[in-house]
Amino acid sequence: RELPGDPETGPRVREVRDAAWSAVMPTPVADPRLLARSDEVADLLGLGRDLLDSDDFARVFGGNALYDGMQPWAANYGGHQFGHWAGQLGDGRAISLGELIAADGARWELQLKGAGRTPYSRGADGRAVLRSSIREFLCSEAMHHLGVPTTRALSLVGTGDAVVRDMFYDGHPQAEPGAIVCRVAPSFIRFGSFELPASRGDVALLRQLADLCIARDFPQLAAAGPARHAQWFAQVCERTAVMVAHWMRVGFVHGVMNTDNMSILGLTIDYGPYGWVEDYDPDWTPNTTDAQGRRYRFGTQPQVAYWNLTRLAQALAPLLDDVAPLHEGLARFQQVHGQCERADIAAKLGLEACGDDDVAMMAAWQDILHEGEMDMTIAFRSLMELDPASPSVAVLEDAFYSPARREAVLPSLQAWLQLYAARLRADGLGAQVRRQRMGRANPLYVLRNWLAQEAIEQAEQGDPGGVHTLLEVLRHPYQEQPGREHYAGKRPDWARDKAGCST
Ligand code: AMP
Ligand code: MG
Ligand code: MG
Repeated sequence: RELPGDPETGPRVREVRDAAWSAVMPTPVADPRLLARSDEVADLLGLGRDLLDSDDFARVFGGNALYDGMQPWAANYGGHQFGHWAGQLGDGRAISLGELIAADGARWELQLKGAGRTPYSRGADGRAVLRSSIREFLCSEAMHHLGVPTTRALSLVGTGDAVVRDMFYDGHPQAEPGAIVCRVAPSFIRFGSFELPASRGDVALLRQLADLCIARDFPQLAAAGPARHAQWFAQVCERTAVMVAHWMRVGFVHGVMNTDNMSILGLTIDYGPYGWVEDYDPDWTPNTTDAQGRRYRFGTQPQVAYWNLTRLAQALAPLLDDVAPLHEGLARFQQVHGQCERADIAAKLGLEACGDDDVAMMAAWQDILHEGEMDMTIAFRSLMELDPASPSVAVLEDAFYSPARREAVLPSLQAWLQLYAARLRADGLGAQVRRQRMGRANPLYVLRNWLAQEAIEQAEQGDPGGVHTLLEVLRHPYQEQPGREHYAGKRPDWARDKAGCST
């Protein structure tokens, strides 16, 4: 079904009460062209070859046409942004096309990001630029292959339209190529989806949405009767703890952990100004608009996730007679996050199990990484090469960005390596098993900002080849890929001090 293109009669921006969503149509674009696709997601959905190869594919996933049965909508939600209640936000530039039931019974929501305005667009255009779309497309898939819970990405479609953005670096509006990503997840419901009706005292809608979410996404809880809301919240806490522990393990910084960007399924969602830690610094944030508050730093992510869960608990409180179970749910976050942390320490350092001394050993190692301005990904991966019988700094030489910082940290690094080597010698794991464990916890390839930037610049010149190559490399982040050393390398000088880029 073709969609009419009439930008003059777009949806009326409004406050939407008594409803969790609004019916809305994508606004067609000038020239939709498929730039990249994840074949794994296509397989997950069971999309057949003829559908994938047809010209209609780019038209549907560029917002110019619908397949039969698609009934698009935009979701209504609120959120706490940078610690403050922001009221109604909603899908200002996301439009869900519908849900698909795959052959295995799994249910997937297909959502376009950048397909035009919705009732929630406020003053903005509902569009996305190619640059940020490439970043979302690639990072969704990269995170999945790293083993991090995340929304997925099916397609990246160039629109042929220009999108105007204020770029911070020169203060002038810039026309950039537009693009649309089709995101895929069982649901895109956010913490803020519940906060909004709660903030309006609309307990009926809050309950309806909570019960829909439980029935659809947590079906095993439906039988719990009146206890279901508390049990559900505890599961959200657990999933969120697992997700954020993975972020810490792989060096991912989300950058905008507002409650409207927190998935109720514990999936990483809304890839904006995210970034990857290179020289290790728990205080680093890729979000240049957060440079002052520095709320969304790498090291604060577990605390922010917890704070966000307290906002969700408050929103859900009207559904419970007694709030004690909500406190228990929050305690589950701390327990599960603590367990994940210890499991990750053991796996990343190659130990059979993590004891109290090992927590301190990891903290000392991280201090050294920070002090020595060492690349997080390379440093952890290089520890795999250490010989416990004769530990040498030589295996870590690639991880340094600055000879001066290397010099400064050398004595403590040498001392730490002795300690670590002794710990390894005392540990029960054999050398081979240790290597395997470390190799599965410490990625070799992550989506470094400058790698994305290289692919973006090439794509902006009309060649999406760099996106395809990165997608391919990032499908096997733990596996050495001969000839692809470039993608495992540390940040080149030109990319220093460049943060992630956003909307
Ligand atoms: P974010 O924190 O980037 O996920 O976005 C916060 C809010 O702004 C959400 O309600 C988005 O839908 C909305 N938003 C962001 N960019 C745009 C845009 N270009 N057009 C319309 N709404 C937008
Ligand atoms: Mg968002
Ligand atoms: Mg520092």
